[in-house]
Amino acid sequence: MANDAEKLSAAETLRKTRTFGKVRCHNPSCMERLEPSPGTDHIKCATCGMEYRIYWVRPDLPRIRGPVWEVNRKIAAVALSRKLTTPKNESHAKEGV
Ligand SMILES: [Zn+2]
Repeated sequence: MANDAEKLSAAETLRKTRTFGKVRCHNPSCMERLEPSPGTDHIKCATCGMEYRIYWVRPDLPRIRGPVWEVNRKIAAVALSRKLTTPKNESHAKEGV
């Protein structure tokens, strides 16, 4: 919980000028830019469906506080079950070697 109170480092102070008013989706395979409406406490990525809790450093400066686990776990579970039911084409991948 102490991590939540992490001070803004100099790098982060710089970064906030670049991504002013926007946050980046934390899904590594998505990275979509999200623009939360002022005062909202969470945002849903329109691209991958992940939801994040928003925390406002200043009224015009949103940051992602963390994922909404109930939603993202559900998405991960669906993705996993899809992976399990879809046979992986491992032999195909090895053919190229
Ligand atoms: Zn996303």
